[in-house]
Amino acid sequence: MKVVILLGAPGSGKGTTAERIRDAAHLIHISTGDMLRESVKKGTAVGREAETYMKRGALVPDSVIIKLVEARLDDGGVEDAYLFDGFPRTIPQAELLEKSLARRQGRIAQVLFLDAPRKVLIERLTGRRTCRKCGTNFHIKNIPPKKEGVCDTCGGELYQRPDDHEETIVRRLDVYNNETEGLISRYDKQGLLVRVDSSQEASKLASDVQRVLGTAAVKDGKR
Ligand code: AMP
Repeated sequence: MKVVILLGAPGSGKGTTAERIRDAAHLIHISTGDMLRESVKKGTAVGREAETYMKRGALVPDSVIIKLVEARLDDGGVEDAYLFDGFPRTIPQAELLEKSLARRQGRIAQVLFLDAPRKVLIERLTGRRTCRKCGTNFHIKNIPPKKEGVCDTCGGELYQRPDDHEETIVRRLDVYNNETEGLISRYDKQGLLVRVDSSQEASKLASDVQRVLGTAAVKDGKR
């Protein structure tokens, strides 16, 4: 089992990049945010608990997240390769992931740090529109849908996520600085981190990420 992690602040382009590269890179996309939104939509016990945190822009407790991810990995095979988007987000989550992978003879192949200035993050988050049905992300200026309010991929309705309103955005960026940023040095020390300039537009960012992953694949082959 192999894992590639997209690490970065809200608005850094993790979800959009994952959507664009997952098929070509043969990676199974796991977005804990999407999984949680799905649970909220279905009204499950996990969804009801998670919603109270998500609304405020706070992190959902590590124990809930780990159970979700473990259940998903249990469904997969040992040969699977995953693209994590939005996980891990805390040091305890990173530690639990390492333990979980060790049990499955898995490893983290690479961590891509999507780096963009705060101004860019806020502009992206306030303009983001998401498909209610399939979760594809758009942006009112940068990635407009062909028809306003309608998803290009599935025809679903586009909406503004409740946590993409300005007050909650500031909270989420602070949470990122306090809880998630520490993972950058952790993965750097492990020799896994590659920084990518994520202030560039979506298609350039996706091709940069693909290039980095291509290099990793060559390295893997030589090992
Ligand atoms: P995202 O779609 O990745 O921006 O996630 C949306 C929200 O879901 C976050 O603001 C958190 O409330 C919650 N969430 C997603 N992933 C995690 C995680 N790994 N740990 C804790 N909370 C998470």
